[in-house]
Amino acid sequence: MRKQLYKAIRIGVVLTTLIFLNTCRLLEPTEEVYRRDELLMGTVVDIQVVHSNPTKATNLLDKAFKYMKELVYMMDVHREDSEISRVNREAYIHPVEVSPELYEIISLSLQISRLTNGAFDITVGPLLKIWPIYKKSGFSLPDATQLQNALARVGWQNLYIDETHRTVHFAKENMSLDLGGIAKGYIVDKTAEFLKNQGISGALIDAGGDIYALGTAPKNKPWHIGIQHPRDGRELIAILELKDIGVVTSGDYERYVIKDGVRYTHIIDPRTGFTVRKTASVTLIGKSTAFIDAIATAIMVEGVEKGMTLVQSIPHINALIITEDQSGKLVFSYTPELLDYVNWGEFSTNRSSL
Ligand code: ADP
Ligand code: MG
Repeated sequence: MRKQLYKAIRIGVVLTTLIFLNTCRLLEPTEEVYRRDELLMGTVVDIQVVHSNPTKATNLLDKAFKYMKELVYMMDVHREDSEISRVNREAYIHPVEVSPELYEIISLSLQISRLTNGAFDITVGPLLKIWPIYKKSGFSLPDATQLQNALARVGWQNLYIDETHRTVHFAKENMSLDLGGIAKGYIVDKTAEFLKNQGISGALIDAGGDIYALGTAPKNKPWHIGIQHPRDGRELIAILELKDIGVVTSGDYERYVIKDGVRYTHIIDPRTGFTVRKTASVTLIGKSTAFIDAIATAIMVEGVEKGMTLVQSIPHINALIITEDQSGKLVFSYTPELLDYVNWGEFSTNRSSL
């Protein structure tokens, strides 16, 4: 009799606890994704934040875009009053003191130039001005003299930085820096850091294919990111699952001009001065979006073999490089650990589909 009473009380306690827990769950505000798109850096920038309060989420999106725009402005070579333009005008005359952010990106760029034997080089500025894709008017290809003149002013060895005084100095006249190959990744990283410091548990920052997946999507799920088919924009070739990591994809399909049947891309080999087209697309996964953005540009310059050797020499980054064989068939080359991030992939048949 007594035993039965105890049992009834125990069941009662358990039931009350369960009802209490469920009520708590109902009262708990649900997390949702709030997102906004804006045109920035010549591309669509999309920020998604995970939040339980719509007003606060809107406020955070406002702040994140404001912060992002300050960085874009700082690094914009097309604006005469930007910090980078001042460096380009004055750094030959005297060492120019720069902001911590500009110093950080220039210093990282130099490290990557060393690592890639100059395949990635932000001193490409003079070369960019002579190729049709970058020209404001006309469609002529550069002649040998123009190429030689530009090449003489390119080379990361001519770019000096001083950490103590936070200065940048050019060894040659008429040099110019262009941050197009790294700025998007850097700005994505900084914006993710900014949102994290605001207490956000999850966000996805996508600057036209340079993405950082901060934390998780609602319900603790990883972020899902599709990789576009390099020859058919409506198709995906893989879906990745990411958490606290960056991913970048650069393709030869987005920015190019065709002259006399030749496709001139927006990537230049800083050592030869010519535009290059060796890969159809390069996707990299790694903790620093700035770093993998620049490495992706270097791989576009070097091609799949040297590119893979480079990736394998760097710890904790993974790559998927897509090339075309002579018959136009796509060839997928990837580091084995890349598959750890693949939820579904056209090239990895043993994975389950979403
Ligand atoms: P996207 O993400 O648009 O494909 P990338 O990250 O590959 O762009 O960078 C391309 C940009 O980098 C070019 O528009 C140019 O500003 C700059 N660039 C081109 N070639 C090089 C190079 N070899 N090293 C560094 N920057 C480069
Ligand atoms: Mg890049």
